[in-house]
Amino acid sequence: MSENDIESELLSMLVEAGPRKAKYISEAVICSVILNINTKKKGRSYILLFDTHVHLNARQFKDDRDATIKRAQEAGVTKMVVVGFDEETINLAMEITEAYDFIYAAVGWHPVDAIYYKDEHLEWIEELSKHPKVVAIGEMGLDYHWDTSPKDVQVEVFRKQIRLAKKLNMPIIIHNREATDDIIRILQEENASEVGGIMHCYSATRKELQACLDMNFYISLAGPVTFKNVKEVKEVAKVVPLDKLLIETDAPYLAPHPYRGKRNEPAYVSLVAKEIAALREIEYEKLCQITTENALRLFRIK
Ligand SMILES: [Zn+2]
Repeated sequence: MSENDIESELLSMLVEAGPRKAKYISEAVICSVILNINTKKKGRSYILLFDTHVHLNARQFKDDRDATIKRAQEAGVTKMVVVGFDEETINLAMEITEAYDFIYAAVGWHPVDAIYYKDEHLEWIEELSKHPKVVAIGEMGLDYHWDTSPKDVQVEVFRKQIRLAKKLNMPIIIHNREATDDIIRILQEENASEVGGIMHCYSATRKELQACLDMNFYISLAGPVTFKNVKEVKEVAKVVPLDKLLIETDAPYLAPHPYRGKRNEPAYVSLVAKEIAALREIEYEKLCQITTENALRLFRIK
């Protein structure tokens, strides 16, 4: 593809979107087009983005899932992990991973829904984990923000899933909301370091970073790193060892600036990458390459 081709492709995308929508897609798309041109000039292959945590299985994408996936591809996102967290979303995650060769799945039980968990769900998750495109167990963890499930029930469901991931030798995806101390203690007690995994949408402070790294966990940053008033996550972004850093959207939630409050989508992972690259004062292209390599290694995708 020549530069002229890219430019005309960009132009046709904008025309197709129309003047009102073009405003929204342009930033992510332009970013990837420039990236593409730069890497071509340097004679390297196209550097790719990996959205390590996305809920394309959420109701918010019911009507335009295919178009959302297309926009992500146009923005340079070529790999994603769709995360299932209850019966409905796990089923959909499996359907989506079957339909798209570049989309992988993770299966687990969310702490908010711990109250609805039954042991047969764990057996089901174990069965699904054998699918070649299921790359992690989760999301799982603790959520002390919502009180739909009592803490002791959340802890029990969390521990059972850690044990399953260890039995299967698969990485774990951790959801943590206002529960950092308990999450770290339980991961230590259960020897989760044997499998490691991802601290998804890392929201703890620099202080807890080392404990997570010591247990072989990668640190995944999402939209909040782009928020003007979220200082600690920006500090975290500067100090996470580069070989332990991942990026994600957690779409449809937590849209990055300037889309904060709107529906998030995987195309916007480029904005997360851009912000981290700026904070660390490294090339955007390099940040994309390293985080993608990290994700491929962690999920054992060849
Ligand atoms: Zn999630």
